[in-house]
Amino acid sequence: MTPKYHIMTFGCQMNERDSEILAGMLQEMGYQPTAEVNRADIILLNTCCVRETAENKVWGRIGELKALKSENPDLIIGICGCMTQQPEMAAKVRRRAPHVELVFGTHNVHRLPELVGKIKEERQAVVDIWETEGSIVENLPSKRIEGVRAYVTIMYGCNNFCTYCIVPYVRGRERSRHPEDITREVAELVSEGYKEVMLLGQNVNSYGKDLEPGTEFADLLQKLDIVDGLARIRYMTSHPRDFNDRLIDVIAASEKVCEHFHLPVQAGSNEVLKKMNRGYTKESYLELVGKIRAKIPHASITTDLIVGFPGETDDDFRETLDLLEQVRFDAAFTFIYNKRSGTPAAEMSGQVHDQVKKERIQQLITLQNRISQENNLAQLGKTHEILVEGVNSGNPDLMEGRTRTNKLVLFGGTPEMTGKLLKVRITESGTWHLDGELDLSKSSRSLPPL
Ligand code: SF4
Repeated sequence: MTPKYHIMTFGCQMNERDSEILAGMLQEMGYQPTAEVNRADIILLNTCCVRETAENKVWGRIGELKALKSENPDLIIGICGCMTQQPEMAAKVRRRAPHVELVFGTHNVHRLPELVGKIKEERQAVVDIWETEGSIVENLPSKRIEGVRAYVTIMYGCNNFCTYCIVPYVRGRERSRHPEDITREVAELVSEGYKEVMLLGQNVNSYGKDLEPGTEFADLLQKLDIVDGLARIRYMTSHPRDFNDRLIDVIAASEKVCEHFHLPVQAGSNEVLKKMNRGYTKESYLELVGKIRAKIPHASITTDLIVGFPGETDDDFRETLDLLEQVRFDAAFTFIYNKRSGTPAAEMSGQVHDQVKKERIQQLITLQNRISQENNLAQLGKTHEILVEGVNSGNPDLMEGRTRTNKLVLFGGTPEMTGKLLKVRITESGTWHLDGELDLSKSSRSLPPL
């Protein structure tokens, strides 16, 4: 019987990309994937700890797996990712869940084959957490998620230490991959049929600063912009403080870099931004948005927002609402601040009452939804170039794809259109997506930028 593996991935796209590498290594070891957890011979939980709620979810899953281990003593249950990289966490897992026999972290994903070999040989638990990040290991096997878009991690770690964030403590200092390795990987992905790449990093704008000779994110984008056969380039996540004018110019001049800017602002009050250690002000953020829109008028801008940060007053919150009115984001991911042990903000005074947080997030969502609807309404009658991603999961009669500005569009079509760049005229608008119909009167390259 071919042994089976099952991976549970929690958290962000960087974890999803790491899980593709874990899957690739397991397949190279002779395992095959199974969607049924009770048929697996090895189960890996690739964890997230950005919020305590994410951790609680993991503990819940670990508890559920105990029965499977007693039924199948040879089953290997392993845990890795950001949660295990926290100090004392590995010991806590072994104490609370002895049925979890493999514990490793974010810095030594490449050691999985060796660690599994050790468990099988020595028939005892293995804990291997690297305190500090090592050098980046290239050319690891990976089993990628099928589709038109592929994730490409360009750097690891973060040096920003925003006071609410655990990432710098569990992902280490910033380390960039070499541009040649990234360019080679992207060319390989194109040869495998991928049309779009999503470049991943905690703060992609710091890309290359640690390399000898140093380089910049803008340089990397210019290199990838000439990769033959690649249709689109997206990237996540940017830090507004490090988004310089040259980068805006390179994106404006590029053919493939999409005109969608995800610029997490987090709050509108300078007082709160200072406590968050974000390194910019409301004014400098508005200036950045102004520069982007001056060079790329049709750009879409989205963001992340936290309400209820320690010490946030009603006036501070009004600053956030005012920022939304001024920028008119296309969409925003909104979060209620939650204490994250191990971060400076968790120790701060002035923790905001839960009821107040709930009221503020509701107000924020209501305002942002109105703005998103108005922005989408303005798309009616316009024709967009869509990269078709596949059949819509909610309605099999519809296809779905995204504009260069990252708006989701549903339209009538056939599965053969997947991976194609097609013109779609917008006929209806909603808060989260647009509806459209194929615009056969326009060829893909004849459209002026919107
Ligand atoms: S930039 Fe700030 S919020 Fe983002 S990963 Fe780094 S420390 Fe966390």
